Amino acid sequence: MDKLSNQKEIKMKKDKPCPECHTIMEIKKTTLHFEREGFYADVENVSAYICPKCGARTIPGNIAINIGNTIEILFKSARESEVATEDEFAPAFSGISFHKITA
Ligand SMILES: [Zn+2]
Repeated sequence: MDKLSNQKEIKMKKDKPCPECHTIMEIKKTTLHFEREGFYADVENVSAYICPKCGARTIPGNIAINIGNTIEILFKSARESEVATEDEFAPAFSGISFHKITA
């Protein structure tokens, strides 16, 4: 790993026990689903602790907070930027895809 990207790296311990059954959890990617006032958002490839035994899922606090804040802003801006058509109001946008570009 290079030193520049290390600065904001979130440390995920490899030996975190499951809060439910105390099995050592695995670090895996998961999808988080949010629903709010007629909109939904899926956040893909979230690094999370997943229990291989009972399936319990834990998102490290700072990751959960960052994602939560981002999604709140999305919901808010989708709600507030409605466009009036002749008969009804429609959201100015819905559906955002966000991915890392891989070579
Ligand atoms: Zn478990």
